[in-house]
Amino acid sequence: MSGLIFLKPVFKESVWGGSRLRDVFGYDIPSDHTGECWGISAHKNGDCLVDGGRFEGLSLSALWREHPELFGSPGGQKEFPLLVKIIDAREDLSIQVHPDDAYAAAHENGSLGKAECWYILDCDPGTEIVIGHHAGSPRELRQMIEEGRWDALIRRIPIKKGDFFQIDPGCIHAIKGGTLLLETQQSSDITYRVYDYGRLWGGKPRELHLKQSLDVIRVPFDEGEQPRPRVVKEGAEGRKTCLIAGSRYVCHKVDVNTCWEEDFGGDFANVSILEGEGSADGVPVRKGQHFIVPADYGPCRFAGAISFIASQPVHTWKESGGSL
Ligand code: ZN
Repeated sequence: MSGLIFLKPVFKESVWGGSRLRDVFGYDIPSDHTGECWGISAHKNGDCLVDGGRFEGLSLSALWREHPELFGSPGGQKEFPLLVKIIDAREDLSIQVHPDDAYAAAHENGSLGKAECWYILDCDPGTEIVIGHHAGSPRELRQMIEEGRWDALIRRIPIKKGDFFQIDPGCIHAIKGGTLLLETQQSSDITYRVYDYGRLWGGKPRELHLKQSLDVIRVPFDEGEQPRPRVVKEGAEGRKTCLIAGSRYVCHKVDVNTCWEEDFGGDFANVSILEGEGSADGVPVRKGQHFIVPADYGPCRFAGAISFIASQPVHTWKESGGSL
């Protein structure tokens, strides 16, 4: 037995969702308006159950509480820190912003804030996303929002398959229709909706959160340090790319050609298989599966032509530990 902890995804239907989670990943989705697959989550709004092995049927939140040894030293952190999703946006998501840890703790019942990052799995030609805005001061931001000058306010960027973006708390953003992406984020479900394009869903508009949005949107927008993915190891066996080593998580993408050995060190790792079929320590794995490699697991052997994204939380991540 490998000791890898496989999870059953939780699906979220949404007005903007589609059917690509079934068409591309083969998931048994609840409807053709399914927007999100929460592949690795211990959040109360979608707590994944362990699929097989000695912890079969246990929720990830219970596993986190009852078996801290599997996760290294959580450092007193109450909650499983990360959440990994695949998002199928058939329609545009609202233009939104998330709070940081301090604002969320004070205003959202002690919730974590939300930093998130996106790996673009696929998109329609000509697709854009929204990251940031063009207001020069808080006053101008408020004015532009109140006057509905959305075209002048929001900053659009063209995207293509394989692109990677970091969205800090306080950064206004939106995923646009036609995008399929993997999101790694802090375990938080707090979204402040700034603008929903005046759409009606089921006859009425969705709620906006203008006060909270104006509280948390950073002005002016600082393009700052968008992560620059870089290849950290490459050979005949495959290639490993560091997508981001941020303040909340570290994400790598590994494209395995034949076989690949990875030691994640003293911290657990979230692994999502994005392409192909193969095995992980002898256990068959395929596109769409999500599992956790426990802390201090030692080398994990991946075989086959597969690609995966692995994320580790930063609070326990040590540069000296593991090869990631
Ligand atoms: Zn978001």
